[in-house]
Amino acid sequence: MPELNFDALIVGCGPAGASAAIALAQKGAFRIGVLDKAKFPRDKICGDALSGNVVSTLKALSPALYERFQAFPEKLGSYGIRFVAPNGKHLDVPFKSPRATVAEPPGFISRRMDFDNFLASEVKSLPNVSLLEETLAESVQIGQESVAVKTNRGTLTAALLIGADGANGVTTRTLATFKPEDAHFCAGLRAYYKGVSGMREQNFIELHFLRELLPGYFWIFPLPNGYANVGLGVLSRVVKKKRLDLKKLLARIIETHPDIAPRFKRATMVNGVKGYGLPLGSKRRALSGERFMLAGDAASLIDPFSGEGIGNAMKSGKLAAEVAAESLAQREFSREFLKRYDERVYQKLGSELWLSHTLQRLANFPALFNFVVNRARNSPTLSETISCMFDDLELRRELSKPSFYVKLLLGR
Ligand SMILES: Cc1cc2nc3c(=O)[nH]c(=O)nc-3n(C[C@H](O)[C@H](O)[C@H](O)COP(=O)(O)OP(=O)(O)OC[C@H]3O[C@@H](n4cnc5c(N)ncnc54)[C@H](O)[C@@H]3O)c2cc1C
Repeated sequence: MPELNFDALIVGCGPAGASAAIALAQKGAFRIGVLDKAKFPRDKICGDALSGNVVSTLKALSPALYERFQAFPEKLGSYGIRFVAPNGKHLDVPFKSPRATVAEPPGFISRRMDFDNFLASEVKSLPNVSLLEETLAESVQIGQESVAVKTNRGTLTAALLIGADGANGVTTRTLATFKPEDAHFCAGLRAYYKGVSGMREQNFIELHFLRELLPGYFWIFPLPNGYANVGLGVLSRVVKKKRLDLKKLLARIIETHPDIAPRFKRATMVNGVKGYGLPLGSKRRALSGERFMLAGDAASLIDPFSGEGIGNAMKSGKLAAEVAAESLAQREFSREFLKRYDERVYQKLGSELWLSHTLQRLANFPALFNFVVNRARNSPTLSETISCMFDDLELRRELSKPSFYVKLLLGR
């Protein structure tokens, strides 16, 4: 049998694929191929918000990588979130984290053009990894002895494949047993603006839970050099049910919403409005099979409440690399063996995903949303509790319990 091109082939070099490559390269002398249809730097439609999850995963991948990220200039530190309830009242929630210092903000905003290029440059610098850019995976075939990926530049073979080619990519379409479902998929739009006024101090990101978008939201995230990332995300089921034209809706909000429109009076849009899908992790799925694992959006792991997917993409990429190293060391590529990847992903991310799904369902009720925000505005203790929830899963779990709202109602 001819020699395989690689031990492991990773399709896609976004946050999931890049993290998988970086982690696997540290695990042994494996020959790793990463292919991406794009040439970096490349754009990715996104809100560009990098949560504390991203920061902690960079550290876990490699302290040296994290140090380089600290020195990476194309990012803005962010210290909190402004939630705007459907009734227009807002609640400012600083990210409270034991990790946070003024020198090290808890979160960041960085254009994906820049952040993904930072990760791809890291991949390019690894001695046992070949990053093949402008290489489009057209089809994938799992054979007895190998995986073959047909690309625009010929066929590549490997013992094992990590599918990290994003929402509705070719690896998910070919290998996954699940399909996109409207109740677990979100449609998103993004536009860059220069000159939006009224941006919050400390680069707070803003989530506006407008009634017509629930449980989704409209966002304004600050970016370096006076730019802002502006967009909206709506559950596909809601888009269909309400027959929403998202581009028209975005334009209408920016032109006519009484609190939002004045802030865009002197703003100019740069490069138009672009859309992309968000596969949500609100349902458990099979993420692996004979000779393959899916990571990031290819595995549908986006947080269903916040729409945050970069951190989970990186975490799942790292877990896929750990299982890939075990699989390659033992020459074991069976479906049964690789199931440990699914177990580890859901062990690490499952509780948070299920909890966020509950919060997403609660966000469907504008009256409940308004009520919590009103109460928190007048209660430093409640506001403090919500601040800590971003870092404390137990506290967030409280927010998903009916007893939490009963106590609030009783003023406790
Ligand atoms: C509108 C919108 C706003 C969002 N906002 C946020 C946010 O603010 N914060 C956050 O954390 N998450 C956000 N997300 C989610 C986030 O963008 C994704 O979860 C994240 O990009 C997933 O990373 P990934 O590596 O799995 O996939 P991707 O980032 O999509 O990377 C996939 C890579 O695969 C390559 N590829 C695709 N097909 C092929 C092919 N056939 N052959 C070769 N290469 C291929 C692509 O070029 C790409 O480089 C948002 C998503 C959307 C749509």
